[in-house]
Amino acid sequence: MRDKKTFSIAFPDISNLEVTIVESGKGISSKTNTRKYSHADITKTIKCANPDCRKGGFNIATILWRMASNQSASFSEIVNCSGFEGNPQTKRKRNPCLNTFQFSIELKYK
Ligand SMILES: [Zn+2]
Repeated sequence: MRDKKTFSIAFPDISNLEVTIVESGKGISSKTNTRKYSHADITKTIKCANPDCRKGGFNIATILWRMASNQSASFSEIVNCSGFEGNPQTKRKRNPCLNTFQFSIELKYK
């Protein structure tokens, strides 16, 4: 979904998309905690800002698919990062990443 064309192929019924994400946790400052996306620059996965996080972020494409199939116009939720902290080379137990993403999605349909 890196360009408008890809997005319109994936979501042919959606004419406009606005996503606002407020992340909190490690690696976040008040200047960088809010990200906004449109249908022109939305990505399938929202990356986690925690520098110690592995395989983090959350999959926003799944949520968009669900909204599109229900013709849902707006949705907001808080999700936890799906990643974990820890060095894969040590045998120490992995801790879940505690960063959270508070997102709101507004969709307009054709
Ligand atoms: Zn994370």
